[in-house]
Amino acid sequence: MENRRIYMDYAATTYVKPEVFEEMKPYFTEEFGNPSSLYSFSDKTKVAINTARERVAKAINAEKNEIYFTCGGSEADNWALKGIAFANKNKGNHIITTQIEHHAMINACKFLEKNGFEVTYLKPDAEGFISPEDVKNAITDKTILVSIMFANNEVGTIEPIKEIGKICRERKVLFHTDAVQAVGHVPVDVKDMNIDLLSLAGHKFYGPKGVGALYIRTGVKIESLIHGGGQERSKRGSTENIAGIVGLGKAIELSISEMKEESNRVAALRDKLLSGIMEKIPYTKLNGPKGEKRLPSNIDVSFIGIEGETLLLDLDFEGIFASTGSACASASLDPSHVLLALGLPHEIAHGSLRLTLGAKSTEDDVDYVLEVLPKIVKRRRDMSPLWEDFIKKQK
Ligand SMILES: *Cc1c(COP(=O)(O)O)cnc(C)c1O
Repeated sequence: MENRRIYMDYAATTYVKPEVFEEMKPYFTEEFGNPSSLYSFSDKTKVAINTARERVAKAINAEKNEIYFTCGGSEADNWALKGIAFANKNKGNHIITTQIEHHAMINACKFLEKNGFEVTYLKPDAEGFISPEDVKNAITDKTILVSIMFANNEVGTIEPIKEIGKICRERKVLFHTDAVQAVGHVPVDVKDMNIDLLSLAGHKFYGPKGVGALYIRTGVKIESLIHGGGQERSKRGSTENIAGIVGLGKAIELSISEMKEESNRVAALRDKLLSGIMEKIPYTKLNGPKGEKRLPSNIDVSFIGIEGETLLLDLDFEGIFASTGSACASASLDPSHVLLALGLPHEIAHGSLRLTLGAKSTEDDVDYVLEVLPKIVKRRRDMSPLWEDFIKKQK
């Protein structure tokens, strides 16, 4: 039998596209000069970083000098949150965020709570939407930052970022968004959406891991997270990850140029897979919204009566690589904080499966999953006391 390897976890990370890798290569072996050095040997690295900064800025409609490179999405989130908190603690100590943020945000918020800050965690509706009205009502004269993710990494909900940005600007409260799942996949415009700070990460759009960026609008005062030398206009110390930055720049430009076509292609595959699953597997619940306000690549479903973790192992055995939610949460057996916030009961939140498609996903992959998954779910349900109970109650 052929050895199938069907990757359906693009929201966890992507491969590096060959065009991206090609552009990165010389900066490992030939053009390795430290950009902070004065000699002409480093000229090419300086130019390369400048080009990458321009590309990132263009992708989100920012200015070049508003882009700061980081070592990934988590650092950008931590920097935005802690940097704004510490720079504004004379103004207030209140931060507004949501219950469904990535752990990089949730755990940075918990750290701030231990250090004298107060955090309001807004609850989403059943599809994962945060209400702009709730944001408005939560703002007090002590609020220094609102941070609402652009698109959710588990259930794919795209938040009403423009409406929330407008409210924050009117109330003169800074607005940060974790756009790690959105950039390169759906349109993002920091000017039109009144965004003051935005996090992004290369490895979610076919760039390398370990590199990301924080957009900081001109005029926003922020404390450093990594204190060090004069890099990143003295806001973020550490010798630049030149090859990584070059890869990030190339990948973001490529993703934006292909976005329209590619998101349509992926959404069509996603819709076929989703309707197949709903048709073939009874008592399946879709988590997150339908239609336009969902990331084009995302499916998240709960199968009543089974555990998501056992499902992952069965799928792995058949050569299908998926997730129960975020990669970070998969290591623990707690149900997802996102699904609980959406109001799912524990036993259903446990039975969830996230399939995220991407550049190498094909119609064949979808057909294969539709052949294998219903059998796995049926077999697991046949062995499950939870399922037996559930079916009895239906009669
Ligand atoms: C992946 C992800 C992150 C973390 O990015 P890293 O580059 O892995 O640190 C943060 N937020 C969201 C929404 C993500 O999907």
